[in-house]
Amino acid sequence: MFPTIFTKHTIEFDPSKCVGCGLCYKACFVDVIRWDAENRKPIFKYVEDCEHCFYCQSQCKKEAIRVVPNYASERLLQSFPQYK
Ligand code: SF4
Ligand code: SF4
Repeated sequence: MFPTIFTKHTIEFDPSKCVGCGLCYKACFVDVIRWDAENRKPIFKYVEDCEHCFYCQSQCKKEAIRVVPNYASERLLQSFPQYK
């Protein structure tokens, strides 16, 4: 069985570059990103659940999103017995 991995990631978002296409919202398969329909902007709601797949970042043609995984996260390292 694989360990559950929790990480503390950062998702950088530059609203000035965003054109409101919604592709990042549709791309996220773990529901990290919600959609602000009124302002046509993504809301990064549950960043702690991010799987750092970079799919949202790769979908954004305006380079408004940058996913910054924290691979040194204490919680990530603790999930592997060899790092305890
Ligand atoms: S994919 Fe990029 S441009 Fe489109 S809504 Fe998301 S952040 Fe904005
Ligand atoms: S990197 Fe993947 S899991 Fe994280 S917010 Fe983007 S699409 Fe969702």
